[in-house]
Amino acid sequence: MLFPFSTLYIANPLGAGRTTILVSPERVKLFTRFRRINRTLLGRFLIPALRPRYTEPVLIRENVPLAPMTTLGVGGGARYFTAARRVEEVSEAVAYAGNKNLPLFVLGGGSNLVVSDRGWPGLVLRIAITGIKRRSGSEIFEVGAGEEWDNFVAFAVGHNCAGVECLSGIPGSTGGTPIQNVGAYGQEVAETIDTVHVLDTRDHQIRQLSKGECRFTYRTSLFNSGERGRFIVLRVDFALQQGGEPRLAYSDLKRYFDGGRERATLGATREAVRQIRASKGMLITAGAEDSASAGSFFKNPMLSHNEYQSVHQLAQERGLQVPHFPALDSYLKISAAWLVETSGFHKGYSRGRVGISRRHALAIVNRGGATAAEVVSLKDEIQRSVSKTWGIELQPEPVFVGFA
Ligand SMILES: Cc1cc2nc3c(=O)[nH]c(=O)nc-3n(C[C@H](O)[C@H](O)[C@H](O)COP(=O)(O)OP(=O)(O)OC[C@H]3O[C@@H](n4cnc5c(N)ncnc54)[C@H](O)[C@@H]3O)c2cc1C
Repeated sequence: MLFPFSTLYIANPLGAGRTTILVSPERVKLFTRFRRINRTLLGRFLIPALRPRYTEPVLIRENVPLAPMTTLGVGGGARYFTAARRVEEVSEAVAYAGNKNLPLFVLGGGSNLVVSDRGWPGLVLRIAITGIKRRSGSEIFEVGAGEEWDNFVAFAVGHNCAGVECLSGIPGSTGGTPIQNVGAYGQEVAETIDTVHVLDTRDHQIRQLSKGECRFTYRTSLFNSGERGRFIVLRVDFALQQGGEPRLAYSDLKRYFDGGRERATLGATREAVRQIRASKGMLITAGAEDSASAGSFFKNPMLSHNEYQSVHQLAQERGLQVPHFPALDSYLKISAAWLVETSGFHKGYSRGRVGISRRHALAIVNRGGATAAEVVSLKDEIQRSVSKTWGIELQPEPVFVGFA
């Protein structure tokens, strides 16, 4: 079996182009070992002039379980799976899916997903392009889409640059952050994103989208609305502020620093956010209870003043106050967690193998061995109850994969 692999490797440096290899699960180990040896030999013996033309084959695996690649940990497998560490590998995988007429799903860190029990019938492409680079003499940071988001936040804070410190501890990849305009504790990525580098799957061109072109609003962007599935994020450039002050807009954060027991530096703010997150079960730490979730399962509803007035009146009749925050012009954002709790679903609620986090009413958790169907059934029940109690249709925040 080694012969066909070596043929492909020798063909590549001679300019035959990239090769895609389909490897069955039992051959993956063998292939990986072979690739390592081959890389060393070619690195040592290939004449330098040919080295830039050497490309490794893209490895496509079959029937790969997806649940372990997600934070919620439910769902079936990918019919085909590949991880791309370089831009060319992303292009190659997209071409492979196109040629074989396979539906393509782009996977980041898997922290905002519910994968169906049937899994994904086509190709899952995991973006694994890593690296963080500060552009010399500037406040622009270029971050590979596959770089873990919290690594970048730590890097930025370590360089004493403000702009993302309140987004500490959010799981997932950097390429996943523009998709739903990730936000927390008074900051969102839309404020600091300068450019998003993408592969356009329509014409296979690489493009640079400016912040304006990304059309960011609350938990929304071009990528998860009008042009869903069209662009694959390859790199994100952030414009931060050297020596800037941390953003202390959010009440929990303000409270943390009240009394002046500690000065609110960027580093201290990052630590405070991580601690507050941990106290709410929103920081993924090995072995922590209730950490198998997709984070907040519902978006905070945005209400017009009239809609807000009717909820406010209903609440008053029950002796309750609606927690709300100012949002876009003429809208008020109300707390989805409060809606869930006042509709009969308390923290710690359990139904078989699924339930609600003991520390956050918005997180649906997998208490071990749950199926996607069980998660969806609890989600439906919560939505029905909130609608009946408050007349509000809660919108889920995670992406549902393979349910169509
Ligand atoms: C404990 C916990 C806490 C969380 N807290 C927050 C929070 O405070 N605020 C918040 O906004 N979110 C939060 N989330 C949700 C989640 O972490 C973010 O949405 C995150 O940015 C998702 O990134 P990901 O790489 O994991 O994307 P995935 O879950 O892998 O994918 C999500 C979507 O993005 C797409 N996608 C991912 N990468 C790319 C790419 N390179 N190119 C094109 N499309 C791509 C996928 O196709 C999919 O549609 C939390 C989740 C958990 C589990």
